[in-house]
Amino acid sequence: MAKSVFDAPQFKSEEGAFAYVEAQLWPNGPVCPHCGNCDQGRIRKMEGKTTRLGLHKCNECRKPFTVRMGTIFESSHLALHLWLQVIHLMCASKKGISTRQIQRMLQCSMKTAWFLTHRIREAMRSGDVTPFGGNGGVVEVDETFIGKKKGMPKRRAFHHKMKVLALLDRDSGQARTMVIEDVRAETIMPIVLANVEREARIMTDEHSGYRDAGKWFAGHGTTSHGRGEYVNLEDRTIHSNTVEGYFSIFKRGMKGVYQHCTEQHLHRYLAEFEFRYNNREKFEISDTVRAEIALRGVVGKRLTYKTASLAN
Ligand SMILES: [Zn+2]
Repeated sequence: MAKSVFDAPQFKSEEGAFAYVEAQLWPNGPVCPHCGNCDQGRIRKMEGKTTRLGLHKCNECRKPFTVRMGTIFESSHLALHLWLQVIHLMCASKKGISTRQIQRMLQCSMKTAWFLTHRIREAMRSGDVTPFGGNGGVVEVDETFIGKKKGMPKRRAFHHKMKVLALLDRDSGQARTMVIEDVRAETIMPIVLANVEREARIMTDEHSGYRDAGKWFAGHGTTSHGRGEYVNLEDRTIHSNTVEGYFSIFKRGMKGVYQHCTEQHLHRYLAEFEFRYNNREKFEISDTVRAEIALRGVVGKRLTYKTASLAN
């Protein structure tokens, strides 16, 4: 008989969920989030009929704690196994999953669903700042426009749209994306310089923002999309098709699933798409493993409702 992934114990019961999250976040046994104590002889698991699930007591600082403390799960009333279901769905859906769908699935308020998904995006956010393109590799750079900036009248060009810059390391297959204020060279080039090694060859389109890139990097190849040129016919390594492909997944998701996104929250949606892409199937990362990687990112990523408020 077919078996759903949601038959796994961590999705079905709180006991299963706590055991799973503890095994992921505490591979060497519980760690006290108050004082950092990880001496297993000095931590006691509290057990008793009326004791809260997963409760431990630290004998160093004498404070109680659970694995939820100090993570995105803290101060949330949602059961842990439901959190894990949502994390799994967000990790397994290539184009994302709408807040409305989460709200229906959990039968919670839209506010709860919205905040929940944003906290998971925080967990997905990578802190990696290692520059791309070491050892003379190729890095593709491109920008795209999406949605509409608040308070800006719609015009024909892209001025009223939100702007995103993407860097893609062709050797490692990793992408890095960020929201940018505008597409001038003064804005774009410092970001590229901070994220790409000088020995790299960079590939862009003919946008003027990249005009002087050749001065800084080992090589700069361009194609003219305006003239319908997507690969340089003399040197077929010159193209930015990989990063274009990245943007196409991102845009299909943003248009189809997350229609209403303001600039204030755009960086978290970027983190979500980037996370799935950088941990994609091509690297033999299954949905389950991808969800585990996201889960390990929940620590120290507390996002309060105030800092991520729905209003504005
Ligand atoms: Zn302690």
